[in-house]
Amino acid sequence: MTEIDSILSGVKTAAISGHVRPDGDCVGSTLAVYNYIRDYYPQIDVKIYLEPSPNIFKFMQRSQDIDSTYADDTVYDLFIALDCSDTGRLGNAAKYFESARKTLCIDHHVTNGAFADENYIFPDASSTCELVFELLPTERITKQIAECIYTGMVHDTGVFQYSCTSKKTMDVAGSLMEMGIDYSRIIDETFYTKTFGQNKIMGQALLNAELYCGGDIILSVISREEMERFDVLPKHLDGIVNQLRVTKDIKVAAFLYENEDGTYKGSLRVNGDYDVAKIAAVFGGGGHVKAAGFTIDGPKDVAVERVVSAIKENI
Ligand code: 5GP
Ligand code: MN
Repeated sequence: MTEIDSILSGVKTAAISGHVRPDGDCVGSTLAVYNYIRDYYPQIDVKIYLEPSPNIFKFMQRSQDIDSTYADDTVYDLFIALDCSDTGRLGNAAKYFESARKTLCIDHHVTNGAFADENYIFPDASSTCELVFELLPTERITKQIAECIYTGMVHDTGVFQYSCTSKKTMDVAGSLMEMGIDYSRIIDETFYTKTFGQNKIMGQALLNAELYCGGDIILSVISREEMERFDVLPKHLDGIVNQLRVTKDIKVAAFLYENEDGTYKGSLRVNGDYDVAKIAAVFGGGGHVKAAGFTIDGPKDVAVERVVSAIKENI
């Protein structure tokens, strides 16, 4: 019996959720655990709650079961939080966490303060999906569960490129490849393929970019108006900050986009030994040493000036 099986024993109702604005690791890890429970614990009444995510993730098994309405007020025996560093990041699912009889957190964020009853938190893991692989009995990982786990790993490692990628990451990915998944298709269709609008807004973001601090910092901002012009939603802006980061000789890349309420969502990426989780924390955000995020008040010029100053102070 693995740890996950001992936690599930005796449970009659369970809820699964992840962080707001779910990314590949969040959708992959929550669906992997959801599918596992559906496949092997038919007696458990399990639900999965997540905010809407991009269509590229809809190929994962039972993605149509994801509840984005959070309409019910069920009190669950067990609540499982995945890829989520604090209860605030659970968004509308926080009420299920608060009322659940028992809570479990599986995560890899360095800023995670172990907020659940049981915590499985390893900041050195490439992704929450890598941790899910460790927690599930390998012989019970179906091809469909393997697809969920692999997708999350691909997204959080930038296709096994970022420094969070370890030998263990590659070993896990190798095991998943042996389970018959179409790995090259998953990489192409969920990571590289962009809609025309997404490519256009990437172009706009690159045109909007400015250098600061003698070229140490690159920062770009996308407005609501620009998102409307290219017919894209915030969830379609993934990848822009990574493109900014590969600008030659920059140390920190920052990308801001305007929220509906006039605040700005910020993403930070870094080259070299700088800790952007610390910089994001200045604005109440968090994440990883090399990839972090936050939300900051507008107007734009004030937000930009505050972000640039916070980065300058930390590099
Ligand atoms: P991204 O820039 O891709 O939105 O996020 C980078 C990393 O930082 C992800 O692991 C994400 O979960 C985390 N992150 C992004 N925004 C926030 C935030 O507002 N608060 C916290 N605590 N973490 C964030
Ligand atoms: Mn993650």
